[in-house]
Amino acid sequence: MLIWGGHLLFNSKRIKEIVKGLGADLCGISPVERFSKAPKGFHPNDIYKDCKSVVVFAERLPRESLFASSCIPYTYVNNIMTHEVDRLGIEVCLRLETEGIKAVPIPSDDPYEHWESDRSYGRAILSLRHAGYLAGLGVLGKNTLLMNKDYGNMIQIGAILVNANLEGDLIATYEGCPSDCRLCIDSCPQGALDGKTVNQQLCRPLSNYRTEKGYILKKCNLCRRMCPNCLGIKL
Ligand code: SF4
Ligand code: SF4
Repeated sequence: MLIWGGHLLFNSKRIKEIVKGLGADLCGISPVERFSKAPKGFHPNDIYKDCKSVVVFAERLPRESLFASSCIPYTYVNNIMTHEVDRLGIEVCLRLETEGIKAVPIPSDDPYEHWESDRSYGRAILSLRHAGYLAGLGVLGKNTLLMNKDYGNMIQIGAILVNANLEGDLIATYEGCPSDCRLCIDSCPQGALDGKTVNQQLCRPLSNYRTEKGYILKKCNLCRRMCPNCLGIKL
C-alpha cells in the first residue's frame, strides 16, 4: 500500500498476494469500466456504487470427480467448493478492510433474487464467468463455462468489488473452442446448449435434480466432462 498526496494507492500485485495467500489458484483484476455491456441491474455499480475494480479469483476443483460414475462426488465437490470460494471472498474483504480498502463479496453461486418462474430462469447478481473473462482468467466456451488455459473448466469462481482503482489484467486472447468442435452441444441430453447460452429450463431437471429425500444432485455434467479442454486447453 502506498500513500501519495493523501490518496491511498493500493497496487494490484499486493491484492493478488493476499488473494492467493488465502488459497486462490487464480486471481485477476478488471477495472469496472470493462463491464459496460453488463445487463441493466447486473452491473458491479448496481451492486456497489463505489466499485472501481472487480477482483476475480478461482479455486481448482478436484479433477477426477468429473469422471466418477456416481454423481455424488461431483455434487459434493461443487457444494463444498462453492462454500470454500465464498469463504475466501469474505476473508479477502476482511483483510482488505484492515488495509484501508472497502470491498464487497459476491456469492459464488446462490443466493440471487432474479427469477422468472415461467421459464425457470435465474440470474446471479453478477455473471462471474463474464467477470472472469474480463479479468483475464480465461475465455468462454460454447458450453458457456469459463475455460482457463491451465485448469480448463474445473474451477470455481468468486469475486469481490473494491473501491480502489487497480491495474487491470490483460484479457485472455487464446482460443478456447476450435471452430469445428461442438462436442458439448451434441452431448447435452436435454438439447439445452446453442453454443452461446444454456436453456436453464431444459438443463435444470438434470443439473438440479431433486431426490425423493430432498437432496439436490448434479446428475449431469456432460457439457463440462465431454470438453476436450476440460482440464486445460490442449486443442
Ligand atoms: S449440465 Fe447436462 S443438461 Fe445441463 S447443459 Fe450441460 S449437458 Fe446439458
Ligand atoms: S466441447 Fe468443444 S465446443 Fe464445447 S466448450 Fe469444449 S472445446 Fe468448446
